[in-house]
Amino acid sequence: MSKDNKNRCSFCGRTESEVPMMLIGNDGCICSDCVQQATEVVRQNGIATAPAKPGAAAKSGATPSLKDIPRPQEIKAYLDQYVIGQDDAKRTLAVAVYNHYKRLQTANSLPGGPDDDGVELEKSNIVMLGPTGTGKTLLVRSIARLLNVPFTIVDATVFTEAGYVGEDVESILSRLLQVCDYDEGRAAQGIVFIDEIDKIARKQDNPSLSREVGGEGVQQSLLKLLEGSVVNVPPKGGRKHPDQEYVHLDTREILFICGGAFEGIERRIARRLGSRTVGYNSLRHTARYDNADLLRYVEPQDLRSFGLIPELVGRLPVITSLQPLGREMLREILLTPRNSIVKQYTKILAIDGVELTFEDAALDYIVEQAMQYKLGARGLRSITERIMNEAMYDAPNPEEGNRHLVITADYCRRQTDKFRPPTEE
Ligand code: ADP
Repeated sequence: MSKDNKNRCSFCGRTESEVPMMLIGNDGCICSDCVQQATEVVRQNGIATAPAKPGAAAKSGATPSLKDIPRPQEIKAYLDQYVIGQDDAKRTLAVAVYNHYKRLQTANSLPGGPDDDGVELEKSNIVMLGPTGTGKTLLVRSIARLLNVPFTIVDATVFTEAGYVGEDVESILSRLLQVCDYDEGRAAQGIVFIDEIDKIARKQDNPSLSREVGGEGVQQSLLKLLEGSVVNVPPKGGRKHPDQEYVHLDTREILFICGGAFEGIERRIARRLGSRTVGYNSLRHTARYDNADLLRYVEPQDLRSFGLIPELVGRLPVITSLQPLGREMLREILLTPRNSIVKQYTKILAIDGVELTFEDAALDYIVEQAMQYKLGARGLRSITERIMNEAMYDAPNPEEGNRHLVITADYCRRQTDKFRPPTEE
């Protein structure tokens, strides 16, 4: 018996050789012509079908319903558990992420269908400015965890260094595919964090950058991704080559969040603010802001004058900034987040039966060192690691060391001094 006899379309009765394509189910078959007709009937009855998303919806990719998406206040409350301070950025991000998923909902209503009011919500990618180690990555990572969407971090500078910029940028999407096991539907609704976006600023506008190869080409190729298009993605990353099979990924529903320190942008903001006032007063006026405050007033034109091309700035309509972390905040970061550094070391030593306590003066010491490092909260972890190294070495041996370890400022000093070169007498 030929296979044609077995596989007849349950709707039109034609055999496999008579139709363009046959889909085979458990107890029946349907040909591609009947699928099209059936879709049309559903459409005519006013029932919205998901728009054809090239590459998407292949495995999953159902848009999360709004009731599954936490509201902005809930997103902020969740972020408060992990990220200290940075209220402006938390609020802006919470609203932008919530709106992003609202947009996905409305994008699923059919053009001309009952839900279509002709108002199309545009995609709102985000740019975050702030010194290193102030929580940019932590914020985005936490949001992605809350929403349970695929998330990847890429560093914009690698594209500049690779040279073949136009092609390599797509590897951002390869990484997104990899983190969700090549589930194209999920990848198409993920979040991408592009770090160090400031490092691909145009050189002529930004004399502080020493790199000869301007980032303009990279910026151009990022545009395509950010504005939303169907992109050919080499599934395993790397360079594209002609014989390769590509995954076609639609980036319309991917949320891009860019981050950067934008060192020196304060001067541009100050100049702009100052130029609004005239004469003698302008100088006094400008001098009143300190750098931390100035970042708050950043506007799209400052990003342009820093060296981002206008088209890219236009694709990053949500701008927010993070503040440098002061002593109080660093102290809080040591103690209060759900997985704070102190909680982590306490847990590590508790596994070996050692009870750990930090004296206040010890925390002050760590904070002071971190302030000197100028790496934001990034320094806290490595400083504490050095301080705790000896204790963690001894802890598994019950006969060695104290079972109740109190970390004093003096203990911290002794431990960190071990790693300093001897000073001249
Ligand atoms: P960046 O702003 O450079 O992206 P990260 O978010 O990577 O900084 O922060 C580096 C580390 O410092 C994080 O893993 C986190 O532990 C800590 N950290 C930074 N900022 C904060 C903050 N505001 N609240 C809590 N922890 C923070």
